[in-house]
Amino acid sequence: MSQDPPAGDAVHRIRRLVADLHAELVRYGLVAWTSGNVSARVPGLDLLVIKPSGVAYPDLSAETMVVCDLDGARVSGELSPSSDTASHAYIYRHMPQVGGVVHTHSRYATSWAARGEPIPCVLTAMADEFGGEIPVGPFAPIGGEQIGRAVVATLSGHRSPAVLLRSHGVFTVGATARDAVKAAVMCEDAACTVHLARLGGQLTPLPPDQIDALYRRYQDEYGQR
Ligand SMILES: [Zn+2]
Repeated sequence: MSQDPPAGDAVHRIRRLVADLHAELVRYGLVAWTSGNVSARVPGLDLLVIKPSGVAYPDLSAETMVVCDLDGARVSGELSPSSDTASHAYIYRHMPQVGGVVHTHSRYATSWAARGEPIPCVLTAMADEFGGEIPVGPFAPIGGEQIGRAVVATLSGHRSPAVLLRSHGVFTVGATARDAVKAAVMCEDAACTVHLARLGGQLTPLPPDQIDALYRRYQDEYGQR
């Protein structure tokens, strides 16, 4: 189980990337103990790279990452893959535009998930990144692909790359794994700020036309081109 498949260079590059992105979850305070995981698709191949199950963040490295096929079966790596692997695989099979998936139990976002309440779009930064509210998906049991089904069903027809899974936590997707990590960071930031805002008074949602304009500007014009 230790040999990477042919195209080993591409696989190793993604192993390194996924290991490094796990350190970002720690850096941004999105995870506790061994919870949370990042995966990435290997470009051009029906493979994904994901965190091993139950391994502490300081012990993660390119070598300890696990390579699986898009049915979630281990292809290479010494350790067992994350218990969320079947759901990550389901997302890649059903959302071909997705190159990376992140799961966390980040505190503020998960407090909205605990109430089963979407995070309303009351900030320009939310319109930029999520194009509207951050939606809530149904509760789903852990271990199979049911979480993946809930994520795909909720994000279909939404611009948001983030979904709150009821009574559980956050899943985010992106064209790349780094984009998915960014969405997880921004989701937690929005969840915290909107929570604090509501402690002080009523929230005022942005009008839909303003949300559309902000989303278009951010997606098409913002940053270096
Ligand atoms: Zn979880």
